[in-house]
Amino acid sequence: MSDMSGTKKLKRGPEICDQLASQRLACSPSVTEFLASKHGASLKQRVKVLSEGSEVKAGGTVLYWMCRDKRVQDNWALLHAQAAALEQGAGLEVVVCVPPSLGEMTLRHYSFLLDGLVEVEEELASLDIGFHLLAGDPPTCLSTSFLASLGVTTLVTDFSPLRQPRAWLASIQQALLSSMALHQVDAHNVVPHWVTTDKQEYAARTIRPKIMNKLPMYLTPFPPVIKHPMPPKNPPIPADFATVYKGLEVDRSVRPVDEHFQPGTRAGLANLQSFVSSRLRSYSADRNNPNKAVLSNMSPWVNHGQVSMQRAALYVKAEGGNHPDSKAGFIEEAIVRKELSDNFCFHNPHYDSLLGASDWAQKTLKEHKEDQREYLYTREQLEAGETHDDLWNAAQTQLVEEGKLHGFLRMYWAKKILEWTASPEEALQEALRLNDRLALDGNDPNGFVGVMWSIAGLHDQGWAERKVFGKIRYMNYAGCRRKFDVDQFVLKYKNMNTAKAKGTETKGSK
Ligand SMILES: Cc1cc2nc3c(=O)[nH]c(=O)nc-3n(C[C@H](O)[C@H](O)[C@H](O)COP(=O)(O)OP(=O)(O)OC[C@H]3O[C@@H](n4cnc5c(N)ncnc54)[C@H](O)[C@@H]3O)c2cc1C
Repeated sequence: MSDMSGTKKLKRGPEICDQLASQRLACSPSVTEFLASKHGASLKQRVKVLSEGSEVKAGGTVLYWMCRDKRVQDNWALLHAQAAALEQGAGLEVVVCVPPSLGEMTLRHYSFLLDGLVEVEEELASLDIGFHLLAGDPPTCLSTSFLASLGVTTLVTDFSPLRQPRAWLASIQQALLSSMALHQVDAHNVVPHWVTTDKQEYAARTIRPKIMNKLPMYLTPFPPVIKHPMPPKNPPIPADFATVYKGLEVDRSVRPVDEHFQPGTRAGLANLQSFVSSRLRSYSADRNNPNKAVLSNMSPWVNHGQVSMQRAALYVKAEGGNHPDSKAGFIEEAIVRKELSDNFCFHNPHYDSLLGASDWAQKTLKEHKEDQREYLYTREQLEAGETHDDLWNAAQTQLVEEGKLHGFLRMYWAKKILEWTASPEEALQEALRLNDRLALDGNDPNGFVGVMWSIAGLHDQGWAERKVFGKIRYMNYAGCRRKFDVDQFVLKYKNMNTAKAKGTETKGSK
């Protein structure tokens, strides 16, 4: 676990890191040759020029504001920034701005994020690329005087469909000197979201062909980010992680879960390797069984930008062996479903409200709003996992203790919150709050869409009408029993709670 000071010693990367480094070199010696190759057009399509910049002259600095994609290699935004810097004969630097709080993020999320950045700083230093870790909101950190002090001629950033980063970008763009260029790169989606479609898609079935048709062009190998020939303008100042930690204004009671998800790109890639070598083969058959460890568990690393989902997809395709159903199943989730989430959040400003649901879903939930609820639980009871339902309580324990809930149970978990709260509005609010506070992969488009799917029928259809749910798809305990051994799952997390209580007693009696 992190020592919270950012001074953690970094281990040498796992075997997969060396393998990927050779593959990047085999793809192209650098991004310059990549752009001239048959794949070059795909990178050009990933870039949106938001401001041309009236005086982009040689010898300045290209600065990458790393916002969503917090990794060095396999990052199209940094690759584009390096291509621009090489072309301009400019230095290359990276800045990360860490606001003291953000949405429902807790210490669990911030420690994962910051510990991952220790690796980013180390890797950038080895490539003669400057790194700045700044505490505060991006528009404040990226002031014109800060940009001028670095001699920035071109500012590059990545893409997020969420409200807050979009507002930050708009504010930075407005304040930017007209002499500077501003470029945005979609480094998160395999097919850039603006290439896939320009409207909100109805469901997976409508976006799937739009993505799959374009995969041959965009699911390309990555060239390497290379040692930059022009060193940064100013000598590097080591990032002050301890001060950033101290300044956080977040709930520190939600502790890190490093024993399950070790932060950083290397750990994320090691997890990818273990998924493909030992779990992928059963992914298709067992992915809906919470007692079987077959899922990729990639979401924490991917959502924090530490591993590229494009890299995960390439690796699964190349190294996944003869398991066509599992490989196809993974591509469906990791590309089609995931990119559908970005599509919804980008095109629908109400992505975390019932107003974002389809008309049929809003209507049916309204019609059943006054239905008598058999059980009503408070926020505290839900958070403590104190309901009458032992499966739900076990799922909540998994979320609290491990920082991630099994994908199948996530649906059951959220639907029960609809059943046990006074209104669909309250259900949505509580489910999003719990998911974003406790799930290490929370605060992400996938989370907003997953909760909206469960409670508000997003990307789904109407089902047989019933109490409270109306036409929203229903799930129940008996159905879970038919799918997997519920008792086994409940026992595991009951034992975990018992062991924890005993540990507390022992500590308390000292
Ligand atoms: C109520 C609810 C809340 C959810 N909250 C989140 C969240 O906060 N963050 C999050 O990343 N996902 C969320 N999901 C979607 C999905 O459950 C997770 O992506 C998945 O469990 C992540 O685990 P994994 O990486 O082991 O998944 P795998 O099954 O190994 O899938 C690989 C990748 O595919 C993508 N994926 C898988 N299932 C979905 C899906 N249904 N929709 C979109 N993308 C998917 C993810 O990026 C995932 O990492 C939620 C789903 C529901 C129903």
